[in-house]
Amino acid sequence: MSPAAKKAGRRPTPISVVTGGAGFLGSHLADLLLERGHRVVVIDNLVTGSIENLASHAGDPQFRFIRQDVTEYLFLDTPVDYVWHFASPASPMDYLKLPIQTLKVGSLGTHKALGLARHKGARFLLASTSEVYGDPLVHPQPESYWGHVNPVGPRGCYDEAKRFAEAMTMAYHSEHGIPTRIARIFNTYGPRMALQDGRVVPAFLGQALRNRPLTVFGDGAQTRSFCFYEDLIDGLFRLMMSDLETPVNLGNPEEFSMRELAEQVIRLTGARSRLVFRPAPQDDPRQRRPDITLARARLGWAPRVSLADGLARTLPWFRERVLRAREKA
Ligand code: UDP
Repeated sequence: MSPAAKKAGRRPTPISVVTGGAGFLGSHLADLLLERGHRVVVIDNLVTGSIENLASHAGDPQFRFIRQDVTEYLFLDTPVDYVWHFASPASPMDYLKLPIQTLKVGSLGTHKALGLARHKGARFLLASTSEVYGDPLVHPQPESYWGHVNPVGPRGCYDEAKRFAEAMTMAYHSEHGIPTRIARIFNTYGPRMALQDGRVVPAFLGQALRNRPLTVFGDGAQTRSFCFYEDLIDGLFRLMMSDLETPVNLGNPEEFSMRELAEQVIRLTGARSRLVFRPAPQDDPRQRRPDITLARARLGWAPRVSLADGLARTLPWFRERVLRAREKA
């Protein structure tokens, strides 16, 4: 153990709990933590996650998987140094299907995860979202913007759950003094997203790989800023290890319209697909781009992977999923 770690009372092998660790981001985070010498306990009820994402850790004594809904009492017989709270449906298609579970995991689940952190004297990080800004009236979005959210619209279950989760996290910080971190995660993509996830990158790649039309919602002028998962996970780790206790945006500030994204996907895949336009979903944000001044200054962080490179690195994963789906059919 380093003298600094000893002085801080930290273990030579830090112990991390990742709720939602079987999901897209949670499982990549678990990989990084194991690589950095943490012991990792994943808690996930597999409602949207997949155990396959963790297959490479089967039999690793540093890794443990507990199948549990995090809205129920979390009991762990080990010390814990870090709690990473990632459990939640994250795709609009999923949370529209599961509005009550989404609200419960953001509220009751966050309460339980914070309770675990408090009981164990652990540091806590909340995976929050750019959705706390709703359909933003300020562009790009800095952390100081309070947002423009419709609480009773279809996205309200997710947006308000995450806003509640942020409030609960700050309350545990101020009332119980536990060290907390809040990451506002903007659109992120990469391998391990499910083919049927419903989010735009898996949708477009899946459609292009089958030479089917790409379904652009609305007029396709709405924008998003896409971050490759590797950059995002690096930012999350830096944030947990920093002393930044206010929310921080993590995302790639390069902004694209959905029409531009569709065209890039067609170029990359060489697909013969055309674009078809479908009605815009209710309350679909018109624009979204993170202001990452705070992350740059306090975490020394900025994304490095361009959309073109990230999509090229994501393509093989979806090619494989499309082939598997074809074999099953
Ligand atoms: N979108 C689209 N076609 C699809 C899926 C999504 O045009 O097949 C659009 C969607 O309307 C939104 C953007 O892509 O404007 C990003 O949607 P996603 O579901 O990926 O995430 P969001 O940022 O809305 O949470």
